Amino acid sequence: MSHQEIKSSPPSAQSPEEPSLIQIEPLSKAAGGIPSIVATAKTVWNEMGMGRGVRTLLKLNQKDGFDCPGCAWPEPDGERSHAEFCENGAKHVADEATTKRVTPEFFRQWSVGDLSLKSDHWLGKQGRITHPMILREGATHYEEISWDNAFALVAAELNALADPDEAIFYTSGRTSNEAAFLYQLFVRQFGTNNLPDCSNMCHESSGSALGETIGVGKGTVTLEDFNLATAIFVIGQNPGTNHPRMLSALEQAKKNGCRLVHINPLPEVGMTQFKHPQDVLGLLGAGTTLSDLFLQVRINGDVALLQGISKAVLAEEEKGTRAVLDREFITGYTVGVDEFIGALEGVEWNEIVDESGISRAQIEEAANIFMESERTIFCWAMGLTQHKNAVANIQEIVNLMLLRGQIGKPGAGLCPVRGHSNVQGDRTMGIWERPTDAFLDRLGSEFNFNPPRRHGFDTVKAIQAMHAGQARVFFAMGGNFLSATPDTEYTADALRRCRLTAHVSTKLNRAHLITGEQALILPCLGRTEIDVQSFGPQFVTTENSMAVVQASRGSLQPASDSLLSEPAIVARLATATLAERTSVNWLALIADYDRIRDHIAWVVPGFDDYNTRVRRPGGFVLPSGPRERVFNTPSGRAVFTVHAMPRHELEPDQFLMMTIRSHDQFNTSIYGLDDRYRGIYNGRRVVFLNQDDVREAGFEEGQLVDLFSHFEGEERVARRFAVVPYSIPRRSAATYFPETNVLVPVRSVADKSNTPVSKSVVISIKPSEESGVTGV
Ligand code: SF4
Repeated sequence: MSHQEIKSSPPSAQSPEEPSLIQIEPLSKAAGGIPSIVATAKTVWNEMGMGRGVRTLLKLNQKDGFDCPGCAWPEPDGERSHAEFCENGAKHVADEATTKRVTPEFFRQWSVGDLSLKSDHWLGKQGRITHPMILREGATHYEEISWDNAFALVAAELNALADPDEAIFYTSGRTSNEAAFLYQLFVRQFGTNNLPDCSNMCHESSGSALGETIGVGKGTVTLEDFNLATAIFVIGQNPGTNHPRMLSALEQAKKNGCRLVHINPLPEVGMTQFKHPQDVLGLLGAGTTLSDLFLQVRINGDVALLQGISKAVLAEEEKGTRAVLDREFITGYTVGVDEFIGALEGVEWNEIVDESGISRAQIEEAANIFMESERTIFCWAMGLTQHKNAVANIQEIVNLMLLRGQIGKPGAGLCPVRGHSNVQGDRTMGIWERPTDAFLDRLGSEFNFNPPRRHGFDTVKAIQAMHAGQARVFFAMGGNFLSATPDTEYTADALRRCRLTAHVSTKLNRAHLITGEQALILPCLGRTEIDVQSFGPQFVTTENSMAVVQASRGSLQPASDSLLSEPAIVARLATATLAERTSVNWLALIADYDRIRDHIAWVVPGFDDYNTRVRRPGGFVLPSGPRERVFNTPSGRAVFTVHAMPRHELEPDQFLMMTIRSHDQFNTSIYGLDDRYRGIYNGRRVVFLNQDDVREAGFEEGQLVDLFSHFEGEERVARRFAVVPYSIPRRSAATYFPETNVLVPVRSVADKSNTPVSKSVVISIKPSEESGVTGV
């Protein structure tokens, strides 16, 4: 392809397909094992060189090392193995610590238009960005800019706004506690609560559901609880790809006699058979069978299924042959049980079976495992949180657990598994568009200012505001906003309408190519790298999925001398923007991150003596009311809730589609084109369909089809996907994120949490009229 700008059309918001032939192979028999070791070694070798790679991986997730930039699964409290990471953790590290570089010379060679014609996979493979870059108004290429000039530009654009609410400040879940705390302080001193984050698109529904029912929007278990549990339910989650080290915890639980139930529309290899890559005997043998029971629920059939399990539990209690309910807990710690039971009585078994797609016998089998278990954990992820009724999904889990007093005792509880390493910590630090008055009061008093009280925009509202011209500056602390968000073309238009878009990034991504009138790339240090400020080397801290706060120290030399740390970027931007208007000496704060942590200790509950406690090996656990059976709800009790069963009325030619991730990706980062566990190689534009649906529709394996989504009379299209017959419920479809985000309407959101409905998208499928390279 020539490196000529294509002037007639704006840069492409969607990743083009890679010119390769997709192969569909038999599924993997087990997760982990030797293929996992080979994949890890290959990635590390290619990106980092073997010696440097091995030295770096030996520091990953160690008490004196750095926190994995991947998912938020916790590390063991006690002794850790020398290789405390998974295949995907190694890929995340290799991706960040790559020796490849994207220099100013690279940007001189490649116009933005030409770059946009490259796939997301290709963009990510180019390496670390070495210098701050600017795309000037009307220009076709990024060019180098000094840090001072970059900050001056952002400051000028922010200060030119008619109202601080015309600026959006996005955060991705990699941002450290220190950077996040400074960032929200800057944004609030600037005068807005427009702090959307990636949590708005993933576990916001969990936060809303749990906040209402148990008084805090976080899980209630620690890793130790997995060793004590007698049953673990994993629902709407694929740990083998998205939280791989969770499989080790599940394997250990199985060895302890725990029973596992997996509930998901797709059978996932990771939950079926696991070979621990560090266990030599396990590698040679067949591995450990994880699930005792797999329920292949229909997409968004979870409310029906959970109501069915609750109904079976209540029916058993009715019989009076054994005590099933924990009446002491229900009476002492909950409200609303009578309304819940009354509503369930009106739910018929045939509705439950129809909507869940699971037979009554299988539901009763799951209920039996639940009733026989003294200590039960429920884990879930995006399979529950990205539906219109997502909050109801999670609250039905809470209902079930409350019936048997399974919250607030060792070995039992609720476990929303977070997908990005510090997404939970960022929210704890105040990255939230709807902060509580109590938080703002403490922040204002600590820094002697009046924080704005008006709630800001979440991610969906931020996109809509930019689209409507109500927001003119978009600043992103990490992430790939364009690819992570729904309705790709609409979001692209929203970004194009901004006066300025600016991204703090380590690597090139599509969000750098779909820009406002001017754009900045501000390159930052990665987790793996040494962070030296004027008082010497610094460490940062993060909070994992189980509320453990720990230190993270990089050990590699930075990818370039021109990188700044995220806290330094915030401090210098705040200084440039706020000038005399700030009550904070920003540059003094970043000289020594202990100073930031001292402020956090005053503002954020649970962080007393932060600097001392976080220096203890392994850090410390934040207090959790529900773990002590303290429920900070208006009634002071945990709350049973009542929900209508969702129904999907599909036209004869329609399917319910969910977006999923492949094994070779992390969120929007595409590391490779294979999905080994599902037997897909060399491509990502595939649609998984039930074999019988494929036959009935007259499709063939590998045939190219176009996908059309239907929402309130609007039609969106994603073209050229290869049909893959697969084990998936009838009338269901699964496709990879972010390729099919284009089909997710921005206005299709979950009740209460406003999370985009990426897992129940109504589509129809037609043979593609275009021919091309995709296909088998
Ligand atoms: S399980 Fe998650 S946190 Fe742990 S190494 Fe793998 S990706 Fe990183």
